[in-house]
Amino acid sequence: MNLIETAKDILKNKRAEFIIGYSKGKDGRTKPFIARNEKDSELLVFNHYSVNNLAVYLTRIKKPKEGKIGIVAKGCDVRSIIALIQESQIKRENVFIIGMNCSGVVKDADGEWNKENTQIKCKYCQLRTPNNYDMLVGELEEFEPPEDDQQVLMNKIEAMNAEERFEFWQNEFDKCIKCYACRQVCPLCYCDQCIVEKSMPQWIEPSASSRGNFAWNLIRAFHLSGRCIGCHECERACPMDIPITLLTRKMGMLAGKEFGYKHGMDPSEPTLIGSYNIKDNEDFIK
Ligand code: SF4
Ligand code: SF4
Ligand code: SF4
Repeated sequence: MNLIETAKDILKNKRAEFIIGYSKGKDGRTKPFIARNEKDSELLVFNHYSVNNLAVYLTRIKKPKEGKIGIVAKGCDVRSIIALIQESQIKRENVFIIGMNCSGVVKDADGEWNKENTQIKCKYCQLRTPNNYDMLVGELEEFEPPEDDQQVLMNKIEAMNAEERFEFWQNEFDKCIKCYACRQVCPLCYCDQCIVEKSMPQWIEPSASSRGNFAWNLIRAFHLSGRCIGCHECERACPMDIPITLLTRKMGMLAGKEFGYKHGMDPSEPTLIGSYNIKDNEDFIK
């Protein structure tokens, strides 16, 4: 069954109350869309322009009193759904995952999808077929991913000394205009009150200044340490093109190296932050 037939079947048989998916947007793009009945389902689409991580809506949408929320999810998006389950924000039994086989999505929505025009995350993706779903839809296309240029940049930064690294990040963070688009779009930024909005005490200067920008970007990265599932939505939304996923990806890599942990893979696994193992490595803490 294709996506439309699948959605119709799910809604007809009340396997979900509604389905969060994509419909056609302007100029070949797609936009988030909620299908509430079989007629709506005919408007659902999925293609290389289905970029948004729709899992962000799971904690923001009004939940049905009974029944499940259906959601169309690529492999990378499924990881955020699993992460939300691990963090007790949603229950697996309350969500119906329509997993999509996905070969990649565009970086520049004005261009055609190809090797050059693909999101960073698609260059090192290992979940083109999602690892958790209720129904799987679509076929994978032949696609040889290009070089992971973010890893190349990461290696370059790691080769810098502390002063050079500080200068690199200062230049990047100086561009920040504190719009918080990175937070709004992140499926794992769901606090009722974000630390940037706390004024007693005020932890982070609200103005877009060097000091405040540094504090915001570092605190954000720390709050997502070992929690970021690498959907790259924050960086995509950043109007100043700050490579913020470099930090959260690196933190995720460290969680893997130091604790053998990868968030958003197994709904029954306790979170890294929420669990303690006496054998946890501490040597790297200085
Ligand atoms: S990271 Fe993988 S699942 Fe996500 S959009 Fe890219 S290819 Fe698809
Ligand atoms: S920090 Fe960025 S890449 Fe990580 S989960 Fe949030 S939006 Fe996705
Ligand atoms: S999206 Fe970019 S500019 Fe806006 S707050 Fe986040 S890092 Fe700063």
